[in-house]
Amino acid sequence: MARTGFYPGSFDPVTYGHLDIITRAARLVDTLVLGVGVHHGKQALIPAGIRIALLEQVTKPIAEHTGVKIAVTTFNGLAVDAARKTHAGVIIRGLRDATDFDYEVQMGQMNGAMAPDIETVFLAASPATRMIASSLVKQIALMGGDITLFIPKEAQEVIAGALAKPSH
Ligand code: ADP
Repeated sequence: MARTGFYPGSFDPVTYGHLDIITRAARLVDTLVLGVGVHHGKQALIPAGIRIALLEQVTKPIAEHTGVKIAVTTFNGLAVDAARKTHAGVIIRGLRDATDFDYEVQMGQMNGAMAPDIETVFLAASPATRMIASSLVKQIALMGGDITLFIPKEAQEVIAGALAKPSH
């Protein structure tokens, strides 16, 4: 039976931490759908269309290398509804620390109550990328810091462009 996984997130911007989770999730499923959350009231730095294009670009080598189909979509409701729409049997989430653990396990359990047919799989962050958070990457970039260690080159260019806009 072919397995589809759904990995939801903001990906604002995609980081090496996300790519680590995507690479490892590709070992567990045949198709991986990346869900870019576009929720009202959650202000993103990068427009959804660009976040999608970026994800497609930086995950292409992973898809080619693993043979796993990687698709990118947006969603604006519940992750379980979006997962169901993509026929995913598992939701993938990454765990960096105890804060992630508390939040993610609670959310996974509530999602499990709403959708018992969908299993949430938690992948512990890899040591090399565990400290990376999109929100901190944005703060560092805003203060002129070097973000090359944390996000792929394509994403750096997008961040540089977004921060160059007069509103920032
Ligand atoms: P959110 O807006 O829900 O915080 P993110 O897009 O930052 O979403 O993250 C989506 C998922 O990826 C979450 O499960 C988060 O824990 C995980 N994640 C983010 N950064 C990392 C990282 N450096 N290592 C492992 N998992 C991560």
